[in-house]
Amino acid sequence: MSQQKFATLAVHAGQQPDPLTGAVNVPVYLTSTFELTGIGTDKGWDYSRAGNPTRARLEEALAMLEGGTCGHAFSSGMAAIYGLVGTLRTGDHVIVSRNVYGGTARLFNMIVRHYGIDIEYVDTADLDAVAKAIRPSTKLAHIETPTNPLMVLTDIAAVSRIAHERGVEVSVDNTFMSPALQNPIALGADIVMHSTTKFLNGHSDGLGGALIGTKPEHKERFLLMQKAAGGILSPFESYLVLRGIRTLHLRMRQHEENGQAVAEFLSSQKKLKSLNYPGLKSHPQHELASKQQRGFGSMLSLDLGSREAVGRFLAALKVFLNAESLGGVESLASHSGTTTHAALSDEERAAVGITDGLVRLSVGIEDKDDLIADLEQALASV
Ligand SMILES: *Cc1c(COP(=O)(O)O)cnc(C)c1O
Repeated sequence: MSQQKFATLAVHAGQQPDPLTGAVNVPVYLTSTFELTGIGTDKGWDYSRAGNPTRARLEEALAMLEGGTCGHAFSSGMAAIYGLVGTLRTGDHVIVSRNVYGGTARLFNMIVRHYGIDIEYVDTADLDAVAKAIRPSTKLAHIETPTNPLMVLTDIAAVSRIAHERGVEVSVDNTFMSPALQNPIALGADIVMHSTTKFLNGHSDGLGGALIGTKPEHKERFLLMQKAAGGILSPFESYLVLRGIRTLHLRMRQHEENGQAVAEFLSSQKKLKSLNYPGLKSHPQHELASKQQRGFGSMLSLDLGSREAVGRFLAALKVFLNAESLGGVESLASHSGTTTHAALSDEERAAVGITDGLVRLSVGIEDKDDLIADLEQALASV
């Protein structure tokens, strides 16, 4: 059979009927341990930290959706990033995109750096800067595209080419796009990372994270991090992500349509100091976004000029909720400086361009007319 299309994979990946009963949904195996068949022999499972049948189905689905050879589910996106860097050694050098998710920077700056791992933030949108930053000790280039919340893109294929020439692996945080809209491995990346908390789960009812690899060595490394560090996804939350994935393609289609409509409405509003959405022709990387993504998603950010203006705007919103996180069916708005990027100092925020007036929107799948009307009345109060 030819390679299945995304919608078919989303519905069926990891979802073969249960071999024991024929159940069409993946059973939630609520068990910590498994009866062994003898000394050193088992039915494929021994302890749920090392492997659980429900989690294994999700891991299989994630590998298929991203075109990798192995998937590993962690208890949160942060646990997955820790799984990515936890096997590095003192003296190793890592290149990281300049304005990554605040939690990623917190993990790298406040924990990983203390292990003697050299973390260097580089503007990965600038290919010369990436080439210049690579040293003999560089092991990994970790990129986030588009970045949170400024929506700056990195050319995944170009960075992978530059990195591979020098023996450096590339990992991509694909949380903002989901596998429905961007497949970094097909573009040349070695590893994909997700916070499944966001679009993959899609219903804001569970945290989770994932690493998808392409080499036997990745499987060994990520399995070691699951077994040794223990930050694995529970069977029930694995089930929730599997269920979310079955409608991922439909949700992303509506997220995308609403995101574009909201961005076009906002682009006509005089009160905005800036608007960042790669689906607008005015976005400086619109062409790259059209080339490496299959859509522009539903994440955008806007600048209202001051923290006070943001306060009035958030208080006036009726459909959008003032909350962190993203990628759920409901629309959310949040003040980046005091939520997702609160872990950075004022200087660090200023250096990456996260101003006091910046608001991030995660556009949900409600009716777009209601979303636009809500934004219009809230802007009137600014
Ligand atoms: C949310 C998020 C994370 C962290 O994921 P958690 O599930 O909250 O731990 C990492 N990267 C990006 C881009 C995110 O949006």
